[in-house]
Amino acid sequence: MSRIQQLDARIVNKIAAGEVIERPASVVKELLENSVDALATRIDVEIEEGGSQRIRVVDNGEGIHPDDILLAVTAHATSKIQTAEDLFGVHTMGFRGEALASIAEVSRFVIRSRTADAIAGTELIVDYGDVGTPQPAAAPIGTSFDISGLFNNTPVRRKFLKRPSTEFGHIAEQFTRVALAHPRLHMTLTHNDRDVFDLPPTDRLIERLELFYGRDVTETLIWVENEAGGCKLWGYVGHPSQTKSNRKGQYLFLNGRPISDRSLSHALTEAYRGLVMVGRQPIAFLFLEMPPELADVNVHPTKAEVRFQDSQQHYRQLLSTIRSTFLGLPLETSLRVDASDQHQAVEAGGPHQQRLAIAPARGGTTPTRWSGSATAASDSPTYPQPTSPAPASPTVPTAEGEPWSPPAQPTTTSGGVRGIQVHDCYLVIETPDGVAIVDQHALHERVLYEYFKQRVLDEEVERQKLLVPESVELSPREAAVLIEQSELLESLGFGIEAFGNNTVLVQAYPAILRKPDFDQLLQDLADTLEQPGQSPSRRDILESLLQMMACKAAIKAGHRLTAEEMDSLLEQSHLIDDAHHCPHGRPTALALSRAELDRQFGRLG
Ligand code: ADP
Ligand code: MG
Repeated sequence: MSRIQQLDARIVNKIAAGEVIERPASVVKELLENSVDALATRIDVEIEEGGSQRIRVVDNGEGIHPDDILLAVTAHATSKIQTAEDLFGVHTMGFRGEALASIAEVSRFVIRSRTADAIAGTELIVDYGDVGTPQPAAAPIGTSFDISGLFNNTPVRRKFLKRPSTEFGHIAEQFTRVALAHPRLHMTLTHNDRDVFDLPPTDRLIERLELFYGRDVTETLIWVENEAGGCKLWGYVGHPSQTKSNRKGQYLFLNGRPISDRSLSHALTEAYRGLVMVGRQPIAFLFLEMPPELADVNVHPTKAEVRFQDSQQHYRQLLSTIRSTFLGLPLETSLRVDASDQHQAVEAGGPHQQRLAIAPARGGTTPTRWSGSATAASDSPTYPQPTSPAPASPTVPTAEGEPWSPPAQPTTTSGGVRGIQVHDCYLVIETPDGVAIVDQHALHERVLYEYFKQRVLDEEVERQKLLVPESVELSPREAAVLIEQSELLESLGFGIEAFGNNTVLVQAYPAILRKPDFDQLLQDLADTLEQPGQSPSRRDILESLLQMMACKAAIKAGHRLTAEEMDSLLEQSHLIDDAHHCPHGRPTALALSRAELDRQFGRLG
């Protein structure tokens, strides 16, 4: 074993860079945080090629004293704390003093800065860790950073960079977090000289949210507010009918710092329990404000996680604040209104609307028929109207619910399935050895999932081509992930291609989806593709997509079935290996055996 020696500062910086600077977006995050700490009122961010070429951040903040500029790029040099006690009362975004040193170690780094009382600015160049000499330079008040060739001296890191659109997506996400935390900041973002965001300063968070998410979302947001034990909680949460398939629409800020916290995420999910479908996630923009000593921010190198002194209290506060807000709102009524609107729209939909004609005939040899497409209109059946207006279950948003047409090819029901539908949601059926209760949505979902999976494996997915491609505007990140995975999506029947900055064109989609809401669909696809965790395998992604699409295409709870529809659905269930669980793992059927029935009714022997 060699003898122990002190590592030199350059190596220390490189190690820190490995931890703090994972990708171009990490640079942007650190620089934005510094500008916020410098009390800037305007920050401009310019990106080239997803940040792998160039990152420029310019602010109009306090600037750096000329005598301090070398210290700024020295590790563990900071103007933000002085003593160990200060660590427990951090009022700034930064305090570790290692970001600039780390960035300068792995890039060509130019900093220019000028304080209000200096007559000229100062420039310092650091070339992959080689620190130059500070020079006087013309500069406006504030600080600018110009970073190019990121990771060129760490080839392994550089190799891990994804394509520019993906890296830019991550940058846009970091930018968004800071922009939401500080609506009063004027912020701009460009990519390859194209304007992506120009956010005027505002006192109203909702105005900034609207720029990012559009009116459709912000109009339904619900304000929440509470104060307990010196901790203020405020912000907006989404209406239960506005959900996503992952947590990407959930933002949490602690004293202006974007954080992620498992316990608080869980509290949010709990608050919506029973109001959103299993597997769907609410939207939330929540701000916690508390004296800094109540939270330790020094537990994570990029400060993304914090440790609360009393995390139970914040859990309870978040949960009860949202719950009690919901209690005071006519949520159920508005869900009902949504559902009946949907119902009318569907009734008026006419025969040209494409509808799902359930599944393959027994044996799976006859392909599923899709009625109502332009070519198949002649043989499309007329649609049965539900026998009564589909009553909405208050706990299940039925925004996606649509009537379900009878099978284009009648299936034989000679198998003698006998069943009744109860509460427009469950089917009670006689089985050879007792009784089973089936969740209609879960079962149909399972049937479609198996069927669609087989089609994908056989490369026989029915595609619906669009004569006029549908253009969908997304966030830069969502657009990037869809384009990156367009080949995988192709195998599911999607034809998606890039069209300008944040817009994609849909040329074709899997026919199983009938007439989809493309905005929602593409967003859900992007969310599914971006599931957190180490880069999931192609198989995992495909699996999630199949589940998502089966769920979308399946009949919903609250939909009344005709006798034929019910028979057909039950008939299909024999085609699948595991009819007892929907793809999400929820049971599709509960069984009660004949013996159990007999015992319960005292019919012994
Ligand atoms: P930290 O933010 O943890 O202090 P950094 O390495 O990010 O560490 O920055 C080092 C120091 O450089 C900061 O403490 C601050 O004094 C100064 N600094 C960095 N960026 C700016 C900026 N945009 N405006 C003014 N000062 C800055
Ligand atoms: Mg910093």
